[in-house]
Amino acid sequence: MKGRKLLMIPGPIEFEPEVLHAMSIPTTSHVAADFITVFANSLELMRTVWKSPKGQPFIVSGTGTLAMDMAAANLIEKGDDVLVISTGYFGKRFKDILERYGANTTLLEAPLGEVVSLEVIEKELKTGSYKVLTFTHVDTSTGLLVDPKPIAHLAKKYNVLSILDGVCSVAGEEINQDEWELDVVLTASQKAIGVPPGLALLMASQKAMRVWENRKTPVSNYYADWTNWLPIMSAYEAGRPSYFGTPAVNLIVALETSLKIIVQEGMDTRVKRHQNLAKAFRAGIAALNLEILPKTNTIAAHTLSAVYYPKGIDGAALSAKMVADNVIIAGGLLPK
Ligand SMILES: *Cc1c(COP(=O)(O)O)cnc(C)c1O
Repeated sequence: MKGRKLLMIPGPIEFEPEVLHAMSIPTTSHVAADFITVFANSLELMRTVWKSPKGQPFIVSGTGTLAMDMAAANLIEKGDDVLVISTGYFGKRFKDILERYGANTTLLEAPLGEVVSLEVIEKELKTGSYKVLTFTHVDTSTGLLVDPKPIAHLAKKYNVLSILDGVCSVAGEEINQDEWELDVVLTASQKAIGVPPGLALLMASQKAMRVWENRKTPVSNYYADWTNWLPIMSAYEAGRPSYFGTPAVNLIVALETSLKIIVQEGMDTRVKRHQNLAKAFRAGIAALNLEILPKTNTIAAHTLSAVYYPKGIDGAALSAKMVADNVIIAGGLLPK
């Protein structure tokens, strides 16, 4: 690691040299024929990574929080009831965003280190009032992994739209959007997607697109409105130039490069590799007599691990010492 520090935070992550090289290719026009091809390829590659051949992908300049904002802005109307299932810091953020658009939210939380049980979720859904539920696949603040499949199944059973915050999971944890019938799966470029920060990435099911089309009120956020972005995504896929807001050309060239690397490895191989590495890492942590935040390994993420500082060790001092040794780790986000 001569002259450079190893980045071991959830994101930005360490990027592949090919991706960094792609960033530095001289910027072309966002309506140049070769860039239209790059954009269209990226949209199609997203469908492979999300396992959503029928999904509607969106690539918009912004961060993961914009992807969350976009899901809420387009699918929520004032007075809608939304069930927010939280496993940490980002669950609460979703609640705040949803409330900005007038949603009435109900927050479900488990004790720290645990996930909300399916029984508790079903009991809420049975009330029949919910239009949408949101949940976090991996909450970065706790390292907790939620299994999306049974929750998506419950959402379907009670005719509720499901929105998955996959910012810390897409391209690292198992996701099968179409088969599991998840309505929105969203992420950002800088985590397991492997591209420097700056892109909000979102995949919407056809059902989610119908709900958006049938809104009674206009979307109250101009930049996030799919009315502005859907024609752009469609034009790129049809090979036609179009414009709403100038896309982040260099980042999208890098995105195509990274998605190709991901797809070449194969989604199942890639997920398995993350699982094996997480298992090995946790074994190392246990050997050092350190504890992780999730109560059991079955609910521990494979894309990052949340480890308690050793007793009597000051977290800030430890991080500073690690930086001096050229390793950057993330401190805690969640006050608890
Ligand atoms: C990082 C993260 C976000 C926020 O993404 P930004 O790109 O920082 O806006 C949201 N949810 C989860 C689970 C995350 O890990």
